[in-house]
Amino acid sequence: MNRINLLDQKLANQIAAGEVVERPASIVKELIENSLDAGASKIMIEVEQGGTKLLRIRDDGSGILKQDLTLALHRHATSKIVKLGDLEKIASLGFRGEALASISSVSRVSLMSKVMGDENDTGWKIQSDGNVANASLTPIAHAKGTTIEVRDLFFNTPARRKFLKKEKTEFSKIDEIIKRLALSRFDVHVSLRHNQKVIYNLLPARSELEKQRRLSLLCGSKFIENAIHIEIERPGIKLWGWVGLATFSRSQADLQYFYVNGRTIRDKIVTHAVRQAYRDVLFHGRHPAYVLFLELDPSTVDVNVHPTKHEVRFRESRVVHDFLFGALHKSLSQVTPSDQLERSGSLSELNTAFESKQRVS
Ligand code: ADP
Ligand code: MG
Repeated sequence: MNRINLLDQKLANQIAAGEVVERPASIVKELIENSLDAGASKIMIEVEQGGTKLLRIRDDGSGILKQDLTLALHRHATSKIVKLGDLEKIASLGFRGEALASISSVSRVSLMSKVMGDENDTGWKIQSDGNVANASLTPIAHAKGTTIEVRDLFFNTPARRKFLKKEKTEFSKIDEIIKRLALSRFDVHVSLRHNQKVIYNLLPARSELEKQRRLSLLCGSKFIENAIHIEIERPGIKLWGWVGLATFSRSQADLQYFYVNGRTIRDKIVTHAVRQAYRDVLFHGRHPAYVLFLELDPSTVDVNVHPTKHEVRFRESRVVHDFLFGALHKSLSQVTPSDQLERSGSLSELNTAFESKQRVS
């Protein structure tokens, strides 16, 4: 009979990484979430070879103190929760303290940061080659905020590397993740480069028109021409966003963005409520398009359900379902054919002008 061993930290981290780091896109998700949690107003993403060679994410957020840099790469190290009770009202995107540890156990990571008002006015860098225990700290020049570079993904776990797809496929998954995050925060400047080429440079969108431009860029001008803006509020719960009209139904469920308190999620209750609401207006086999934001008291949502935080659990799922269904059904049934015509006329010119400026691909 084999004896029981305690796994060493490095191996334990590599195993845990399997839950969070499936591919480059999952790293991008975690890193952008960290930048957003740090209050960044600008996030710049650079990708090389579909993210397998290099991912570099730079933000202008709060930064990390020199004395916390090493800790940031450790598992179960987080600044976002302190005690069990905090899990009941998570306002940040992260809270598990696993992402940086997982990422740095399967790649070469450089984490560079500077906090505002650092006494020596310098930044610090920590580098780890798959093993946090050997990481070293050096002073560097850095603006306020954080840069993280992730190189040579899975260099030390060849079995996992084999599951990576072609560069183009990996990049399209990254693109989709960035789209999701860029739609969740119109106020944040997001730029993306792939192999030195600018893919987008999304300026902060504050006015309604600017938001529509960002939507048009990320979801296509046809979507915004065929969508209505909704905003419905009841005590303790609010739904807002854009719902595509029946004229813009899809053969695939590929344009469905749903956020709960700013977090992109997949949820059966949500999907069901939306499908029911569209039932009267959509042909069988067609899928609606939408970008919707549900806001409710964080203490009524459990976000600690899945390692990648893609799922949530509603405390009162019936109430959420009925509110969603009611709000969407009513909005869709009030649309008149002339609404649709007016919209497509006024927006298409603007979109054409704008797209040529911002989307470079
Ligand atoms: P979590 O986000 O769940 O706390 P992570 O492993 O993603 O765990 O990050 C660990 C910690 O490192 C965070 O709690 C945060 O304090 C710090 N951190 C990571 N990325 C950034 C960033 N871009 N800006 C500021 N702090 C960061
Ligand atoms: Mg995180």
